[in-house]
Amino acid sequence: MDFVARQSLKDIEEYSVEHVAADIIVNANENNFPMPEKVAAKIEKITKDFPFNRYPPIKAENLCKTIAEGLELDIENIKIGNGSSELLQTACYVFGGFGKKIAIPYPSFSMYGVYVQMSDSTAVQYPLSDDGFLDADKLIAFCRKERPDLLIICNPNNPTGNYNELPVVEKIIGAVQCPVIVDEAYMEFADGKDVPPLDMRPLSKVWLIAGSTLSLVGSYSNLMCFRTFSKAYGLAGLRCGYAAGAAQLIKLLGKALLPYNVNAYSLMAAKVVYENKALYKTMVKTIRKERDKMAGFLRKLGFRVWPSATNFLMFCAHGFLREKLAAAYGKKYGEHLPDAVASGKMLYRYFLENGILTRDYTTHPYLTGCLRVTVGRPEENKIILEKLAALNTEVRS
Ligand code: PMP
Repeated sequence: MDFVARQSLKDIEEYSVEHVAADIIVNANENNFPMPEKVAAKIEKITKDFPFNRYPPIKAENLCKTIAEGLELDIENIKIGNGSSELLQTACYVFGGFGKKIAIPYPSFSMYGVYVQMSDSTAVQYPLSDDGFLDADKLIAFCRKERPDLLIICNPNNPTGNYNELPVVEKIIGAVQCPVIVDEAYMEFADGKDVPPLDMRPLSKVWLIAGSTLSLVGSYSNLMCFRTFSKAYGLAGLRCGYAAGAAQLIKLLGKALLPYNVNAYSLMAAKVVYENKALYKTMVKTIRKERDKMAGFLRKLGFRVWPSATNFLMFCAHGFLREKLAAAYGKKYGEHLPDAVASGKMLYRYFLENGILTRDYTTHPYLTGCLRVTVGRPEENKIILEKLAALNTEVRS
């Protein structure tokens, strides 16, 4: 029998990420470091007597309160989701619908387009620069012309990794007429370039809001900033994220979230993590340092590397190296593809054969031939770079 589903699902494929056994998993921008011992011990202690038989707080009020206090905001400014994914999907549902337009960046997080489509809205894509940067004036002009009902900005941008300075983002928020989501899933890894030198607030807060639109919540009636516990805070498996924004928008978001949407255990763990966020600072600093070291190494080998302020790097071979890798791919696998794709496939398969799972962007229309690699623990990164150097020597000889 042929059943008819909603029209908007017709062209949507179920999301999938390659899930193969690998020793080094660097394909999903997770945090590969273990949880700080103090945090693990606290969670373990609470787990012993955890009330698994009880429903969680109906609107995750416990975590909302902790986050609101941390940001010196009200509980009305915060909503919690099953990962920021749930909040993004819900926001498209709330602000979109038939005949509504949602402006999304390109190239960026592919799920934006899916959420727009699932909500029966129309996606209007605005282009980013060659390196993935926003052009405030162009985006403002785009919004004047297209008049979207919701604008999504990704900063730092996934998958290119680049960070847009806060004044650029603020200019856009101030100029457009619609709600704006700034998805800051990776903001902890940006370098906080915008901390004013005389900022006297507690360091843990300054660190959290540096360079982030979290510092603008309360000043703009159309702003919502989305953050996640999945990346810097290493809780991807627990699915927890939050929105901080103008109370009126947050209230609308709340109308479309299910009661008890986030499970009690995740709320508990995220609360412990949030209360101990200062313990993640050294880890995040190490990841940033490792990222910059890896980017430098890749460039030296002859790769193009996108400027990253995240825990991942987007890169591809070009010029002579591209030709050599493409030739090696044809020879090894007997498959003849355009040079850009073949060079990327060569890298991807070589990594996989060496137990390293990266993210394959080789057939992406804009990032053709590229791989995205998460910055892992130093010992993992060392192996990745050693393997890459060995392949580089092999194909060039
Ligand atoms: N936004 C961006 C830009 C992401 O890369 C991701 C995860 N890949 C998410 C949102 C969703 O993350 P989560 O649902 O785990 O919070």
